[in-house]
Amino acid sequence: MKAVVFTAKNTVQFTDLPDPKPGPGEVLVEVKASGICHTDFEVLKDNYGTGAFPVVPGHEYAGIVVEVGSGVANVKTGDRVAVDPNLECGTCRACKRGWAHLCENLGAYGVTTHGGFAERSLVKASAVHSIGEMSFLQAALAEPMGCVLNGLDAVYAPWMEEALIFGAGPMGLLMGLALKAQGVAKVAFVDLAQSRLELASSFGFDPVAAGSDALRAWHRRADLAVEATGVPAVASQLTNYMANGGKGLFFGVCPSDARIDIAPFELFRRQLTLAGSHSLNHNIPRSLEVIASLGSEIDRAVSHRLPLEEISKILESKPPRDSLKVQWQRD
Ligand SMILES: [Zn+2]
Ligand SMILES: [Zn+2]
Repeated sequence: MKAVVFTAKNTVQFTDLPDPKPGPGEVLVEVKASGICHTDFEVLKDNYGTGAFPVVPGHEYAGIVVEVGSGVANVKTGDRVAVDPNLECGTCRACKRGWAHLCENLGAYGVTTHGGFAERSLVKASAVHSIGEMSFLQAALAEPMGCVLNGLDAVYAPWMEEALIFGAGPMGLLMGLALKAQGVAKVAFVDLAQSRLELASSFGFDPVAAGSDALRAWHRRADLAVEATGVPAVASQLTNYMANGGKGLFFGVCPSDARIDIAPFELFRRQLTLAGSHSLNHNIPRSLEVIASLGSEIDRAVSHRLPLEEISKILESKPPRDSLKVQWQRD
């Protein structure tokens, strides 16, 4: 089968791999849609230190079950499914608390084990979730939406009326859509790129240009402020935009050695809450429900639908300019 393989640190190959056979408890998924994530580039650079080369990247994918191994009862050939990529140890303290995403020995399809940028992917039967009639494009957004919902679990409260999101990239937009689905009346986006602000506004969000008076008007106003750029200078400003009693979420991936200044007095006096969130925690079914409730509007979060060979080239360089979610898709 055709596959993108990270053969070693900083080395990408578009190549042939032997067809995998499902063992006991496993199923073989014919991949139909698979999204590129920032994480794929980090895996290639070995920034997670997992060093699991060679590895097929891709952890945001969906497809059709084409073969099931022995002992698999709840999944059958022909099932349309989305994959939950996280592989937790099940025995560490975090796992015992039900925090799979914080597992001390966390692995994942597409990170430490072959993932979704191959024609077929071998996964545990417990990792697949039925998607019914949902399109594969939407089902491949279940993993990133799962990360968004995990982030909101850390900060969302029903009293929130106004949210400000820094970064109108694909993850920021999914966050905005999820907040809208939660009933948050006003969601505004800050970005440097005019094209991204226009896109945010086409979804019904308020566009706010970086450095503008409109942004200054958000001073200490947001019930929820979200950092979705991964830029430390942006992260360092987050509290300035949080209302008294407001919450802030560090959702973007800043460089691991970045540091920012926070005024403890301000957190105290204005009772601010700052939170982080990582990955998703077995919430693919809820994620699929949120996606279904949003309907076809969410499809516009995917800007590119490409053949697998093109995906390989992008993983060797960088995503196309002004792209949102980039997916490999096939019939
Ligand atoms: Zn991802
Ligand atoms: Zn664990």
